[in-house]
Amino acid sequence: MLDRVKERMAVAKAPLAVTSELLVTENGWLEGPGVIRLPSPRSFRLTSRARHDEPGPVGVCWHWTGGVCRPGYAGVLAKKISTYKPKKDRAASWHLVISKQGWVYQSVPFELGSWHCAVGTVKDDRGHTHRVNRSLTGIELENSGRLKYLDGRWYCHPFWKQDKAGAFVEGDDFNRVPDPKLVVETERMQIARGHGSFDGFPDPQVIAAGFVLRALAERYGLPANRCGFLHGDFDRRKEDAGPLWRNLLVDVYERAGLDAAVLTTGGHA
Ligand SMILES: [Zn+2]
Repeated sequence: MLDRVKERMAVAKAPLAVTSELLVTENGWLEGPGVIRLPSPRSFRLTSRARHDEPGPVGVCWHWTGGVCRPGYAGVLAKKISTYKPKKDRAASWHLVISKQGWVYQSVPFELGSWHCAVGTVKDDRGHTHRVNRSLTGIELENSGRLKYLDGRWYCHPFWKQDKAGAFVEGDDFNRVPDPKLVVETERMQIARGHGSFDGFPDPQVIAAGFVLRALAERYGLPANRCGFLHGDFDRRKEDAGPLWRNLLVDVYERAGLDAAVLTTGGHA
């Protein structure tokens, strides 16, 4: 119930959708209509250098947030990482979260790193290797991820009811019980051929992502072949941001003025 209240507050405070050019300030913050800044202490130094040898990222890694993603969820997440209690909280963070409505929340400036991908490395133009978190901008897309059809409705991860200890609750027939709190509206389900069923990414979210990527690529001189990484490309235990987003990246790239050919040829690895 408390979550619903927080979500409603986030909706009330929500910005406009991002539908026009954005800028990146001297110290790595997005600026423009539709961007909300909620600074997070969950950051650290990058090891990468951007064009002109200034501190900055060398590419982008895309994620999905998971969760049911009712309106306001992205804002609640951004608020949540605006604080950090060292022994209590997991240190997860990211630079941006883009809501389904095209609202953009920035938590960490691009010239610092965030904790969005625990494993993996990338090479910069000079052939230097960097950890993902030390060199890529982490962008979370408000999205429920893979969906399962159970008893006539679509559910998002973890699909089934769990007890407080995280064990699945068994019903009368000793089967797991779908969790009604994890139901996602049928209209949101989209099929990714050969991969399964997923929560879709609405147009305003794709449009906002295009403006965000354009601003980032221009500011830091990011090459097209390092702007299309998905979390799952680095971490085999993860599948975000999923096959739907992989396909939509072509659209996002075109909006950002980047050459999408590197995506279709798989040359971004
Ligand atoms: Zn992720």
